[in-house]
Amino acid sequence: MNSKIVFTPGPTYVKENVRLARAESTTNPDLDLDFYDFYRESCNNLSDIMNTKNQVRILSGEGILGLEAACASLTEDEDRVLVIDNGLFGEGFADFVKMYGGEPVFFKGNRDEDINIANLKAFLEKDNNFKYATVVHCDTPSGVLNDISKICPLLKSYGILTVVDTVAAMIAVELKVDSWQIDIALGGSQKALSAPAGLTFLSISEDAFKAMENRKKPISSYYCNLLIWKNYYENKWFPYTMPISDIMGLRVAIDNVLEEGVEEVIVRHTIIAEATRLAIEEAGLKLHIKKGYSNTVTVFDVPQNVDCEELLSYIKEKHNLLLASSFGYLKNKVIRLGHMGENAKASKVLFVLNVLQDGLLHFGVELKCNLSQIFFEKVKK
Ligand SMILES: *Cc1c(COP(=O)(O)O)cnc(C)c1O
Repeated sequence: MNSKIVFTPGPTYVKENVRLARAESTTNPDLDLDFYDFYRESCNNLSDIMNTKNQVRILSGEGILGLEAACASLTEDEDRVLVIDNGLFGEGFADFVKMYGGEPVFFKGNRDEDINIANLKAFLEKDNNFKYATVVHCDTPSGVLNDISKICPLLKSYGILTVVDTVAAMIAVELKVDSWQIDIALGGSQKALSAPAGLTFLSISEDAFKAMENRKKPISSYYCNLLIWKNYYENKWFPYTMPISDIMGLRVAIDNVLEEGVEEVIVRHTIIAEATRLAIEEAGLKLHIKKGYSNTVTVFDVPQNVDCEELLSYIKEKHNLLLASSFGYLKNKVIRLGHMGENAKASKVLFVLNVLQDGLLHFGVELKCNLSQIFFEKVKK
């Protein structure tokens, strides 16, 4: 497997200090009490990034584990769960709700814009008998970013618990778990944090723990049971042996973010994303959604008469660059530029835009201007 330049919306580029930390010698994470402190500090550093005093846990499993664990831990038979859906990850939550015996009720937004708060308000005025609600921060297949700062306080005003998938947004985009009243906020290692895939982390509020403790029936899962994690530190007990090398790498990735500065990282993503969108539009390409752009991924329509798979494979063969289309209803209709984490750097985006321009030209698409030039002029400012 030769190494390629990866510019997909996760997994992202993994920096050398993260890779090296994963090669360091290790201890027995179950028995060595020092590891409990290391783990707790790592969780605390994540809570600083997430702006929360809530408990944070790092679980052994890719991002999807967090989504399933939240639903497994909160859902009881016949619970009504509000599934806020304006994208494929949003819609997918319904499957987890059903799997654990709940009844998903959809609030459907438009797929080409962020959730309309006034519409959600009107919906909730008529029906608000939900145990919890699920919503995606950045729905990566279309690149839409929902305004969690408005959605979650609105839900909580009806006593609805809030579960937010911020796997593809957090770190790159502002996230204030406490002031936005998010009961469970989920993240993954391989997106803007730029660690390898394999870990999920989440914050759990007191209200969420209470809902788990007050269940009539115990949680029907072990690996997805968030309640058994509650007092791991006091009890010096993990539900399973922690993947210590993964967590050592993750810790360095977390500290990379803290060292650069949480605010600075967000500003960097904003500058890169705005310049990328400007270049795409000035060149005559079409951004896929109308509004609610996420600063982690830019999604544009494949120009007419261009075969998406052929274009992506040309780019991979000729330039060793891996770009992604999307899936579901967007498969081979759009191309996604994943400028998140370590990939949100001007030099990388310049290379990607140059390659994209060459690829499009090869398939007969003449752009109105030079993508990388427009990008560069904008980031320079
Ligand atoms: C990447 C991602 C996940 C994790 O899912 P995978 O498809 O397995 O990578 C979950 N939610 C969102 C919004 C994501 O972008």
